Amino acid sequence: MRAPDAKRSATHDGGACMPELPFLTVLAENLEREVHGRAARDVLVRSVSVLKTFDPPITALSGMRITAVRRRGKYLLVEFGADLVLVMHLMRNGRLQLAGGDGRVPPPGRTAKDLALVLALDDGRDLRMIEIGPKKRAAVWLCRRGEEIGGPLAGLGLEPLSPLFTPGALARMLRGAHVRLKLFLVSQREVVGIGNAFADEILWAARLSPQAMADRLDAAAADRLHAAIVGTLSRAVDEHRREFGGTLPMKEPLHLLAVHRHGKEPCPRCGTPIAVIYYEDRETYYCPTCQSAGKVYADRRRSRLLR
Ligand SMILES: [Zn+2]
Repeated sequence: MRAPDAKRSATHDGGACMPELPFLTVLAENLEREVHGRAARDVLVRSVSVLKTFDPPITALSGMRITAVRRRGKYLLVEFGADLVLVMHLMRNGRLQLAGGDGRVPPPGRTAKDLALVLALDDGRDLRMIEIGPKKRAAVWLCRRGEEIGGPLAGLGLEPLSPLFTPGALARMLRGAHVRLKLFLVSQREVVGIGNAFADEILWAARLSPQAMADRLDAAAADRLHAAIVGTLSRAVDEHRREFGGTLPMKEPLHLLAVHRHGKEPCPRCGTPIAVIYYEDRETYYCPTCQSAGKVYADRRRSRLLR
C-alpha cells in the first residue's frame, strides 16, 4: 500500500474539519507543555452560549493552578488544582490559541465575535478559545473533579488506542450495532474520537464499505477493521506530532489524508477515482474498487435536488 503523498492537495475546500483524535491528542500534549503549572489570573466568558454550567461558577478558576491537560474522545480536559476540571468541546470551528506575553506574536486575529472564552494566565499569556463563523456550537463545562464522567462525558465509548480496545472488544460492539459502518465509527458510543474524516480513512484502510452493516461483518472483516482503527489513528497521531511540532494545531492537515476530501482524485492504492456520498450534513469518501466491489452509491443530495 502506498502512503498518501505528502504533496497531495485536497480537492475540497468546504471549510474546517471537526478536530478528531489525532489533532486533539497533539493539541492536549502541546497545550499541557505550555500551560502546566501556570495559574489562572482571570477568566472571561465572551460568548453567551459557550458556558453550559453555572455551578461551580467559572470565577472559581481564578488563582487555581493547571495540573494537567488531557483528551477524552473529542473533549479536552484542563484540570485545575485537585478539584476542578474545565471540559471543552471545540465542535467544528472552535480552536484554542495562546496569545501575548514573552513577546510572542498573537495568532492571526479574527473578529471579536469569534472570541468565546479567555483564560488569563499568570505568565501574561491568554489561553483563548475562539470559534470562527456564525454558528456558535463550541461548549465548555466547569465540573468538580469526577462529575464530568456523569456530565458532559456520559455515554462515551472506549478509547481506540487504549489496551482495552482489543479485537474481541470490537467484535462484541459490532454484534450489537445494527447501523452502517460509517455511523458506527462516528457515533462515540462504542469507540470514541473518530469523526467524519478518520472514519473514511479507517474504512479505506480496512477495504470496507461505509454502507456495510456493522452487525453483518464476518470475523476476518472485523479483524481488518480493528487493525485499521488502531493503525490509522496511531500513524495519524505521529504525523500530526511532526506536522505541528510544539504548536497548537489550528487546521486538519488534509494532505495527510488518503481519501477524505480527495474526491475524484485517484485512490492511492488502485488509482480509481475516489467517490463521495453526501448524506445529511455528512460527506463520505470511499474507493469504489477497494471498498464496495465497484458499486458507486447514489449521491443522495443530488438525487433529492433533481426530484
Ligand atoms: Zn482503491
